[in-house]
Amino acid sequence: MNLVMFDMDGTLTDSFALDANCYVLAIEQALGLTSVVTDWESYAHASSSYCLEQIVRTARGHAPTAAESRAVQQRMIELMDGLHVRHGRGTGEIPGAAACVEALQAAGYAVAIASGDWEATARHKLKTARIPFESLPAAFCEASHIRTEIMRASLARASAHHGGIAFDRIVYIGDGVWDVKACREIRWPLVGIGQGAHASRLRTLGTSHVLPDFTDHAAFLRAIAETTVPRESN
Ligand SMILES: [Mg+2]
Repeated sequence: MNLVMFDMDGTLTDSFALDANCYVLAIEQALGLTSVVTDWESYAHASSSYCLEQIVRTARGHAPTAAESRAVQQRMIELMDGLHVRHGRGTGEIPGAAACVEALQAAGYAVAIASGDWEATARHKLKTARIPFESLPAAFCEASHIRTEIMRASLARASAHHGGIAFDRIVYIGDGVWDVKACREIRWPLVGIGQGAHASRLRTLGTSHVLPDFTDHAAFLRAIAETTVPRESN
C-alpha cells in the first residue's frame, strides 16, 4: 500500500495569507503583543507553536503558558469565523483538493495529514474548506515543533490506522520551502504545489514534480508515481 501525506496550509487549504494575518492578529489581541516578525522562513521551525514561543520569548523573555497558547488558538478561530461570516472570506480548498483526497482513498491509497498548525485551528480550516479529513490519520504541531517529527508522527498514525503495515512508498505533498528541506532530510519523495514564481522556487530548490493544484487528477497520479526525493539545491 502507498501512502500520500499532505501538508495543509497552502497545499490542501488556500488560506496562507488570510491565516497568517489571523495568526498575527490573534497573538496581538490575545496576548497584547506587537511587532510580530512575519518572515516565517526566518524561524528555525515552521510550526504555529514554535513561532508563538519565539515571538513571546522575544517580547517577554519566557515561553507562553499553555493557557496563553490556547487563548491565541481560540482568538484565531474567532477571527477566521468573523471573516467567514461577515465577509465570506473563509478558508477555501486549493482547487481539486477535496476530490483528490476522496479519489486517492477510493483507488486504494492511504492518505494522511501532517501540518505545522495546531490541531484545533487546523481542523477548523479543513472543515471550512470542506476537505474530508475526519477519518484521516493526522499529526499537528502538538506532536513536535520539528516538521520531520510531525511527518513521522503522522506516518506512525497512518500505519496503525491500516493495521500496522509498512507502506511500499510514501510521497509527501507540500508547498513550502520547509517541506522541501524536510523531505530531503527524511528522504521522502515530494510533489510540490504552487504556481508561477512560487513553483519555480520549489523546482530550483530541487523538487522534481510541481503542480499548480489538484484539478488534473491524472497528472497528480503520474506525479506521485514518478516524483523523487528533492535534490540538493545549489
Ligand atoms: Mg504549507
